[in-house]
Amino acid sequence: MKIHEYQARDLLVSFGIPVPPAIVVDDADGAAEAYQTLADEHGATLAVVKAQVHAGGRGKGGGVKLVKSAAEAKRVAKKILSKPLVTHQTGPEGVPVNKLLVAAGVDIAKEYYLGLAIDRVNHCPVLIASAEGGVEIEQVAQDNPDAIIREPVDPATGLNGYQARKVAYALGFKGEQIKQAASIMVKLCNLFIRSDASLAEINPLIVTPKRKGLPNGEVLAIDAKVTFDDNALFRHKDVQAMHDPTEEDPAEVRAKKHGLSYVNLDGNIGCLVNGAGLAMATMDLIKLHGAEPANFLDVGGSATEEAVTEAFRIILEDKAVKGVLVNIFGGIAKCDTIARAIIAAAKQIGFTVPLVVRLEGTNVQIARKLLDKAKKNLPTLQTATDLTDAAKKITAAVGVKKRSTKGKKKKAARKKTGRKKAAAKR
Ligand code: GDP
Ligand code: MG
Repeated sequence: MKIHEYQARDLLVSFGIPVPPAIVVDDADGAAEAYQTLADEHGATLAVVKAQVHAGGRGKGGGVKLVKSAAEAKRVAKKILSKPLVTHQTGPEGVPVNKLLVAAGVDIAKEYYLGLAIDRVNHCPVLIASAEGGVEIEQVAQDNPDAIIREPVDPATGLNGYQARKVAYALGFKGEQIKQAASIMVKLCNLFIRSDASLAEINPLIVTPKRKGLPNGEVLAIDAKVTFDDNALFRHKDVQAMHDPTEEDPAEVRAKKHGLSYVNLDGNIGCLVNGAGLAMATMDLIKLHGAEPANFLDVGGSATEEAVTEAFRIILEDKAVKGVLVNIFGGIAKCDTIARAIIAAAKQIGFTVPLVVRLEGTNVQIARKLLDKAKKNLPTLQTATDLTDAAKKITAAVGVKKRSTKGKKKKAARKKTGRKKAAAKR
């Protein structure tokens, strides 16, 4: 689960990490008032207006702007709220901006990257740090992998003081800054472990210029991103309360409520599959036969007839869907449950588009009998013997003749975001 920057900042503060004061607002007038409050109460002469969306790269996309007066804050806020924000993580259509954070602006002497993630190879959290902050860490990893420091963390003890100081020193912090940076690292690690996060990132962590009274500058977090492990959410009611459904596709929210993993994509063949791996393979096969999947959908092993019927409803409500491919390998999920859901969906919603069903495994004989009986009410139904047969039948039914090479670049870009989204679901 993702949260907004303003929520992640509150979390940082609750773990004792210093961040500049900030105020969340919903509109342009609120932004002007927030600027004034920061000026009056904190002596701010500079503020930064920041779009609150569940996507990174806001700065480059025009979603983070420095302002020097209340009037400018209002003008900039109005502009950011007026249109969807497009960043390299949102896709070309962008995402709507409903909230802004107005933060006291700080002068920056240097930007650093600090993050915690799970190291899947070493089976432990890992602190990732770089003196090349402010830019995408993925980019640094690609261009200059030596600029990234990795420090494994024992989840039982958290990050030890000596480890944090070693990393702070390696990043080039000096004198008093080493203590400040090391303390932030230990606290970020505590946050990561105690809240069952899958990612906790400060990018950038900054040092302010040296000035009178602060001869070493000050180490501060000016951006925060925290993502949580969905499987551990049940034990963090406070984290659950931060969920913002407006950031998600409504169909995806509905699917989640029914225990389904669903990601909306750009193609026209709806897929209903059990198992994330089989769902990915099904999408690949559809592409191999010249069409594009309209969604990734894994109904999971314990799906009930109601949940699967809801899945069909979600798929069929997508106006782009011109055909549906059901591919079930009945293991824990039973083929007859799926067959009953198909019949229920046919009754409740009706299949006006071609439907190709491939079932194998647990209770497949019962399922086949059910579908045979129901065929007269399901004129668009075809059954398939295997996955290739199924992909051929559905692509033929929606009228795909051969693989198109037109708009290959655009498709490749879409495919990338689609696969990324679907992979994130897994
Ligand atoms: P992101 O692009 O979504 O990661 O948003 P960030 O909050 O990281 O902001 C992007 C960039 O804006 C930062 O890397 C900074 O260079 C700049 N920035 C953000 N806040 C401030 C600030 O208070 N003062 C200054 N001078 N720059 C800022
Ligand atoms: Mg950032």
